[in-house]
Amino acid sequence: MNNFLSHFRCTQCGKEFEPLGLHYLCDICSKDYKPGMPLLGVLEAMFDYPAIAKAWMELPDPLLFSAVHPQFYPPIPVGNTPYFKAPRLSEKIGLPQLWIKNDALNPSGSYKDRASQVVVADATQKGIAEIVAASTGNAASSLACIAASVGKQAVIFAPAAAPPAKLIQIQVHGAKLNKVQGTYDDAFKAALDYSATHNCLNRNTGYNPLTVDGKKSAGLEIYLQNGQQVPDWIVIPVGDGVILSGIHKAFTDLLRAGITDKLPRLLAVQAASSDAITSYWETGKYQDARQPATIADSISVKTPALAHWAVQSIKESNGKAIRVSDAEIQDAQLELAQLAGVFAEPSSSATLAGLKLAIAKGWIPASAGTTIVLLITGHGLKDTAAVKGFA
Ligand SMILES: *Cc1c(COP(=O)(O)O)cnc(C)c1O
Ligand SMILES: [Zn+2]
Repeated sequence: MNNFLSHFRCTQCGKEFEPLGLHYLCDICSKDYKPGMPLLGVLEAMFDYPAIAKAWMELPDPLLFSAVHPQFYPPIPVGNTPYFKAPRLSEKIGLPQLWIKNDALNPSGSYKDRASQVVVADATQKGIAEIVAASTGNAASSLACIAASVGKQAVIFAPAAAPPAKLIQIQVHGAKLNKVQGTYDDAFKAALDYSATHNCLNRNTGYNPLTVDGKKSAGLEIYLQNGQQVPDWIVIPVGDGVILSGIHKAFTDLLRAGITDKLPRLLAVQAASSDAITSYWETGKYQDARQPATIADSISVKTPALAHWAVQSIKESNGKAIRVSDAEIQDAQLELAQLAGVFAEPSSSATLAGLKLAIAKGWIPASAGTTIVLLITGHGLKDTAAVKGFA
């Protein structure tokens, strides 16, 4: 298989960067970037779309859209997660075409493995032995897991208050854990400081362009698993906005290759107190979330790294953004578990809570023909303390 990466392109000024270099942000647009604000000059991987289209005709394969040649991929399988209907849940909320994409069934139990897979592959390609990341917990446990499969050293900066199971996961895979007395945003900065002074690769979400690109693979899988049809809506939990932008990127790339002719509408779901992207989408003006405090730790972000790209993705897809309360998340968590057999962590349970609100608002018609995908991003066992009502 060929690798069809053409170059990286700045999402703000369009400046191009050669494909094999070590790039994070555009040097021009990131001049005014400081930790504590959404990233500026985020790079997007661009491909030889006509060549991909040709190869896709012979064999449709998400790997055709990979920014790193699959020969460098770690041996541990990532992705190809199940896509299935949940009839009892469908019936309860009146949507016959409700599908679940269960990315909790990745090696470390979260969607983050998709980005880790490609970043670790890039480290192998570049001969770099150490990879650093900031994380609310899942990006770190994911990097620790995937890096272990190829013997690379993961260095983690995570809030000390992260769920205990995630902190254990990080350490059990042999990563170096630096607990940050502070928030995820503080950890993000600590990881930037670390990579500026060490010979390593930085996997901070959004900052490393391969994180967005790596996260698009689920979108490509959904397209194939949905019978090569673009679903009407995909419901996505949103913290930094990288998963959402990655899913949008998948369908944008399919569109650019002429494989599809439309985009799915994206419903961005945020915890009510961690709503910077929702507010930005509503008002057109960026502002930090005031004080994130939610049981959905994976989407608890004050300053979303990919705020600009995420809001643009919601707009381009003719999508919507919505807030859900912790109580709504906890109710949805039990519904998913008891009607679909899917034990999702709070962030992922937020998708069902958001979908129900969107139906109530009339944003999504509860009609027989509407195909809706709930993106389940993390396993419930990662944070059992967040579950309501059981000891
Ligand atoms: C990271 C994460 C999210 C949010 O993804 P962003 O790219 O930060 O928006 C949602 N769910 C889970 C389980 C996660 O780990
Ligand atoms: Zn630029």
